[in-house]
Amino acid sequence: MGRTFFVGGNWKCNGTSEEIKKIVATLNAGQVPSQDVVEVVVSPPYVFLPLVKNELRSDFHVAAQNCWVKKGGAFTGEVSADMLVNLGIPWVILGHSERRAILGESNEFVGDKVAYALSQGLKVIACVGETLEQRESGSTMDVVAAQTKAIAERVKDWSNMVVAYEPVWAIGTGKVATPAQAQEVHAELRKWLQANVSAEVAASTRIIYGGSVSGANCKELAGQPDVDGFLVGGASLKPEFIDIIKAAE
Ligand code: PEP
Repeated sequence: MGRTFFVGGNWKCNGTSEEIKKIVATLNAGQVPSQDVVEVVVSPPYVFLPLVKNELRSDFHVAAQNCWVKKGGAFTGEVSADMLVNLGIPWVILGHSERRAILGESNEFVGDKVAYALSQGLKVIACVGETLEQRESGSTMDVVAAQTKAIAERVKDWSNMVVAYEPVWAIGTGKVATPAQAQEVHAELRKWLQANVSAEVAASTRIIYGGSVSGANCKELAGQPDVDGFLVGGASLKPEFIDIIKAAE
């Protein structure tokens, strides 16, 4: 089953409206393959979502970087999935390692968020990945499987989900996983999906890699059979993001 290459840009907590407009102008001018070859989704901070949605080319889409675990109400500072849908935002990133580590989001909480966001009609980029300590102790796959299990226990329909494997030690560090390291975990994760969800979900779900992806290393990573795209942090704020979008060409 064909898995359309997917490139996400996570702008994190960066940018002024002037800077955001410049990034959008660069993206709008980029010569990239058509949507059936590569799906592009960029994720600005909440406050810039309407601006980016209005100014971004129509073949690229936008994602929020988080949303609340259930329907809105007395949850000061949170934004609900329902609000994103109301605003016409199609995607949301959930379970990013910065939120897991800094804001204490557990596997179960992330699983609940994913299930609620999907139930409201959002498409989800669900992030999983191990710390350096966990990798060095040989528990990478146990960690990734536990994170994925918490999602799988709560979700039946995987058709609107992309899984981002993001080793924490590679995020924002310049230490990219080697193509072989990325392929190994992606292949294991796909096997896990086959054994624990279904062969159909394993074959059709895009598993993208994130962690210091750049214009220089993207081609080799994209050449791995189980790497279906990228979630890009730092480099998604720079013109080289266009080169990353073209990695699967
Ligand atoms: C990320 O935060 O999702 C990420 C992959 O960041 P970076 O590309 O900067 O490592």
